[in-house]
Amino acid sequence: MLHQIKGLHHVTSIASDAAENNAFFTQVLGQRRVKKTVNFDAPDVYHLYYGDEVGSPGSVMTYFPFHNAVRGRRGAGEVGETVYSVPKGSLPFWADRLGAAAEGLEAVHHFGEERLRFQTSDGEGFALAEIADDNRHGWTGNGIADDHAIRGFHGATMRLQDTGAMTELLTFMGYEKQDTIGNVSRFAVADGTGANTIDLEKMPSAKHASQGAGSVHHIAFAVENRAAQLEVRAALLDTGYQVTPVIDRDYFWAIYFRTPGGILFEVATNEPGFDRDEDIAHLGEALKLPKQHEDQRSLIESHLQPLA
Ligand code: ZN
Repeated sequence: MLHQIKGLHHVTSIASDAAENNAFFTQVLGQRRVKKTVNFDAPDVYHLYYGDEVGSPGSVMTYFPFHNAVRGRRGAGEVGETVYSVPKGSLPFWADRLGAAAEGLEAVHHFGEERLRFQTSDGEGFALAEIADDNRHGWTGNGIADDHAIRGFHGATMRLQDTGAMTELLTFMGYEKQDTIGNVSRFAVADGTGANTIDLEKMPSAKHASQGAGSVHHIAFAVENRAAQLEVRAALLDTGYQVTPVIDRDYFWAIYFRTPGGILFEVATNEPGFDRDEDIAHLGEALKLPKQHEDQRSLIESHLQPLA
């Protein structure tokens, strides 16, 4: 069993409109845009990152806004819900704030937690879970008080027709099964970060999801550094997973592998972080391009929608 993974690093999804996506995450959820860059493999599309003040691992939601992308179909073989941690007693505030801006608001009890579920305008599933004693610092720069601010991720729900192979994989990665209620099993890293839960929802008769706007593209787990990442990569290769080489994503190093059931996993390093190329005071303001695309800056900028 691996011990290098302590929770999530980031979650990356597909959106259909950059300006709308930017407004929802910064103005409604009150997250900080910590990086404005482009998809390194398709530089005419933004890659937008939203998180806490510095984009701490475990707080970062990232988007590829493909303009007018067709909405994905929800189903099995995908991350169905990304879950943020919010302070105890804050859900009435959030229900009020999300009222007009999100769809499908629903209060639920889930493994002893009070949750508010909602979907974005692209139909992407999220929940806010009231978690006691989450001492991570929320970003309060957008008119959201500290006693309401999102602390970062709590975890994510993965929907699968069969959860057997994923249970084995998560266990190998360092997650322990804590409980099962109905068709959902809760896994957690015992000494993990606040972003250390994964719920597996077994949906034997569900159709397979199809990816589009509102779909999670991949989910990334955090390791401290490149040495730990290489250990994880070697262990996954030994177990039979097809893992990519280490890829430089400028703000972290990444490896990717496809899991049984179809969900794309990434393992990303906490180093070097989002302040490697701009001051913490101005994170996410300027368009940052990877060096291989810098010579095409004016062309790239002409294709991108201006953002507030
Ligand atoms: Zn990623």
